[in-house]
Amino acid sequence: MPVYDYACACGTRFEFMVPSWSSPAPDCPGCGAETTRRPPSPAVHGRAAPPASMSSAPQSWEGLNSGDRDTITHWRRQVEARQEFESRHPEHREHRDAIAAHEGRFERKPLTYKELASRAAGGKDASTAAAEASRDRRTGGTGGGSGSDPA
Ligand SMILES: [Zn+2]
Repeated sequence: MPVYDYACACGTRFEFMVPSWSSPAPDCPGCGAETTRRPPSPAVHGRAAPPASMSSAPQSWEGLNSGDRDTITHWRRQVEARQEFESRHPEHREHRDAIAAHEGRFERKPLTYKELASRAAGGKDASTAAAEASRDRRTGGTGGGSGSDPA
């Protein structure tokens, strides 16, 4: 699926993966308003644009299409690319973790992309990873939950 660049009147810019060119623009992840698709930039070719900022990632499970695998994979990569970018360019660093979900079972403790990424690293799909993150919290957690899962 193609990824397009969208902009909102509030100043938010973000990339979003849609089924096709004719798909309707997604709502702004920042304010919920309608967004407009920006024309593809010729400057992108041959020169790496900075990865999307973490604050442009969807911050709710709903914004992630209820955990749609492709959507989450896209944003997980964006966030990882951004972290890498920020480690090389500290002046662009954002002082917070990007939140992937904050409603429902994540209401009390939002799920971060960082955590989602580490959960999904074992080849699990995002919904499974998120469910495990949620479950570990309910049982008190083991502080990181590394390794001994019989999954
Ligand atoms: Zn907006």
